[in-house]
This record gives sequence, C-alpha cells and structure tokens, in this order.
Amino acid sequence: MKNTEIVYSALQNAGINTELELEEVKTDCMLCGKEIEKGAKLKKVVSSNFTDYDLFRNINGTHICKECATCIKTRELRTNNIIADKDNLYLLKKNDLEEYLFNIDRYVKGEFIVGITQSFKKHNSYRCSVNTSTDIFYIREEDKEYKFNKVILGELYKKLNEAYLYFQKDEILTGQYSITRIQEFGIKKFQVYEQEFKKYRGTHQFNLLVYILNSARRNEIVKERIAKQKEEQKHKKMAEKEKKKEMKGQLSLF
Ligand SMILES: [Zn+2]
Repeated sequence: MKNTEIVYSALQNAGINTELELEEVKTDCMLCGKEIEKGAKLKKVVSSNFTDYDLFRNINGTHICKECATCIKTRELRTNNIIADKDNLYLLKKNDLEEYLFNIDRYVKGEFIVGITQSFKKHNSYRCSVNTSTDIFYIREEDKEYKFNKVILGELYKKLNEAYLYFQKDEILTGQYSITRIQEFGIKKFQVYEQEFKKYRGTHQFNLLVYILNSARRNEIVKERIAKQKEEQKHKKMAEKEKKKEMKGQLSLF
C-alpha cells in the first residue's frame, strides 16, 4: 500500500469524516501518480498556503486521488503526531510518543507509517515512508526523515531519562553542563553517560529523544528529591543543636 492509502484506510476505520467531492476522470493522481478513474480537482484540495508541489509525481495533472486528497485535507493529521497501519490510526500528543515508539509492535501490524510534528502545522502524512519492520523504522518529522532503531535508542533513552533527573534538556542537548549538577549526578557515572550522549548529539534521533522526555514526570521526581534533601538537612541541623545543648549542659556542671 502507499502511505496515503494506509492513512485513508485507518481514517475510515476510525470514523473520521473523509467526504470529498469527486469527479469522474481518467488520469494519474497528481500527488502519488497512480492511475485513477475518480479524483478531486486540485483547487478543491489545496489552499493557497500549500507549498509541497515538489512532492507531486504528476505535476501536470488535474486531479488528486481520494486517498491523497483526504490526507491533505484532514486537519487532525497535521495537528497530531501520527502512527497508522491500515486498521488503526493513533493521534498522539508529545507525552504519548515514548510508549508508542518503544512498544510499536503492540500498536501496529503489517505496513505502517510514523509521522512526528513539533510545529503542529506542517503536512506529514503523505511524506511518510511505509515501514514493515517494528525493530527499525522510518520516522517522518516534517522536513526530516530518519531511521529509528528501537533497541539501540531504547538504551539511550533510559540513560537520558536518568540524566534528565539532574540536568536540563538544554544541558543535555549542548553538552554544556553545570558542574554542581555533575557532582550531584556522580562524576564517574556522568562520564559514562556523556560518552554515550556524545555519540548521538546533533542527530535527529537524539533531538527527538530529548524532546519527548517527560518534563511533568521529571519535575515530580525532582521535587520529591529536593524535599527529601531539605528534610535531611533539617534533621542534621537539629541533631547538631541538640549536641551543642548537651555540651553546654556538661560544661555548666563544672
Ligand atoms: Zn494519490
């Protein structure tokens, strides 16, 4: 199946309205290039903001097939991250992505596509490559496309999550860390982790993983840690006070 056929089928299954005004016409789809006997006129499908003409396989055509037209017109496909096979369409928010990407075999069967957006306004669906392997698959992220190796990146993601409990995303992305936080994290451990991060820093995959790190979850954990540290300091201070008092008492005996 073509990418737009997969998405179209999934949309229908999901009950998302895919109605279009189609005309009888013998031509090739302007976008995917397949032979069609029915299609939607270009002007009925794209707005004046549309710029992806470089993707058109049949730029001299007049009509777009119902699958491609539906992908262009369906707003939900631009305003969400999408994963789809022919039966399932998942419209995902940022914090859903770690679950779906690392456990993708639970969610899709056969051919599938993955489209990620950080702008929430660009077209992704008809630019996605069709995947068949859930171990290594292509992610389309607006103007970029890259391979996602689930096992290798899963290991990296675990380390990133641990580091994120001590460092800011910016520090991880740039490699410019605060010394105090390095000490808190543990210098030896930091060296091992940073060695790994260095290998991937600057890649689309690394940027994606840092992007999907869950900041709400992180802030909860960090809050707890800081509260615990404060509590410990309080106890230490109180113990010291007690000790001083005791010594004073002993001194006054003489
Ligand atoms: Zn088409």
